[in-house]
Amino acid sequence: MTGKTARKKQKTANIYHAHVYYNPKTKRQASRLRSEAVKKFKITDRSRNFKLSRWNDKPGGPHPRPHFFIWFKASQYGALVPWLSMNRKGLDILVHPVLENGDPVIEHTDYAVWLGKPFKLRLDNFSGSPPSALGFTRGF
Ligand code: ZN
Repeated sequence: MTGKTARKKQKTANIYHAHVYYNPKTKRQASRLRSEAVKKFKITDRSRNFKLSRWNDKPGGPHPRPHFFIWFKASQYGALVPWLSMNRKGLDILVHPVLENGDPVIEHTDYAVWLGKPFKLRLDNFSGSPPSALGFTRGF
């Protein structure tokens, strides 16, 4: 660690994503998990603390597998993440912060938490595919 790194200001995130990965065989589990999350956390189009992405059946951006994601405020981390860890139905989930002017590679690696089995993301794909292509604008 350099002196410069050590002096960096502490960072906190206001927004997180939980990416729920699936494949054609596990899409049913993903669909059940999605429905249960909607019910449990009362997620609607007007929710202020949670938003749900569309289904991304094709890999896109840094995500090499089909997924959907839950956008949530940091204040909900303690409720959502433990719930996901207990109800993930064998699915692999990546939870990462979205920082203002953050480095997306660091957000998806150093700052990320996996529930289930981690796998390699396509980290060199960040420049090619805007996050909006996944269903949301960055920092939405
Ligand atoms: Zn994300």
